[in-house]
Amino acid sequence: MIIVMGAGAAQKEIRTVIARIKALGYTPHPIFGKERTVIGAIGDERGKIVLQGLESLPGVERVVPILKPYKLASREVKPERTVIRIAPGVTVGDRQLLVIAGPCSVESEAQMIETALAVRKAGAHVLRGGAWKPRTSPYAFQGLEVKGLKILRKAGDRAGMPIVTEVMTPADVDLIAQFSDILQVGARNVQNFSLLKRIGKSKRPILLKRGMMTTITEYLMSAEYCLSEGSRQVILCERGIRTFEDATRNTLDLSAIPVLKDRTHLPVIADPSHATGVARLVPPMACAAVAAGADGLMIEVHPTPEKALSDGPQSLTFPKFAEMMAMLRPFIAAAGRTL
Ligand code: PEP
Ligand code: MN
Repeated sequence: MIIVMGAGAAQKEIRTVIARIKALGYTPHPIFGKERTVIGAIGDERGKIVLQGLESLPGVERVVPILKPYKLASREVKPERTVIRIAPGVTVGDRQLLVIAGPCSVESEAQMIETALAVRKAGAHVLRGGAWKPRTSPYAFQGLEVKGLKILRKAGDRAGMPIVTEVMTPADVDLIAQFSDILQVGARNVQNFSLLKRIGKSKRPILLKRGMMTTITEYLMSAEYCLSEGSRQVILCERGIRTFEDATRNTLDLSAIPVLKDRTHLPVIADPSHATGVARLVPPMACAAVAAGADGLMIEVHPTPEKALSDGPQSLTFPKFAEMMAMLRPFIAAAGRTL
């Protein structure tokens, strides 16, 4: 249920409502909007009618059911868009189009520093690089792990950029959160509920990638796991889904972008690198994602893609990345955004 407080509700009245929600055995999730506060009361669906009684408390305007199964992610609870602050001057969910760039895997310090400086110069805001890699084959490069995490941090600091890296297991959340500004949950872990719950307790923003076989509702339910544990900072990322088409690695589900933005207040970015699997196809699909309303892009970039230890064929070289950034400009302007 959503307890909608009146526009002028006093702090004391809000606190009373929160206490009553708890007393009834529900978890209160207050959302302090510009105009008014709404409090999501989450818990056992069956007894929720008892919450209706809160309508008589001072300061409460109305109590309404949340129809969507993803309660906290839904725009019913929070019609205003969520803006996530990643670092000073770097946000996602507002007018700024967030650009995340870097290699699939952290391979060496030289590779990361070179990449950080190049993508920064071309206009990227956040540096990416996988230190723990979820590979299909156990014989493929698995990542440099802690060493990779430290290299990524060093390269980010050198270029003055925040960083994002993937967390594969609940046990690593605290360690990675000490170094990384954003915690990524990969497509393969989108329904790893124990990871989602654990990461939802972190204070760091979460980049939750859509699974290759998750419907939009399932995807939003995964975001809900993080939100229900207290996180308010989930960034969604459409990275291609598995279809019958095999000309591309996956199929970028462009319509998921406006659908998600209709259904949730959370920011939505797109990853045309994993969606297409082909470097040449990345720039046009990046433009398409911006035109469809994406709040940001995640792009794989490597100094020498032919030598990359993972995802070389879909990685852009530095000049191709700079070219893509130039190609994006009219689309960014047409979408009413800035870089
Ligand atoms: C990645 O970002 O390198 C990655 C492994 O992506 P995904 O989880 O979308 O496959
Ligand atoms: Mn990759």
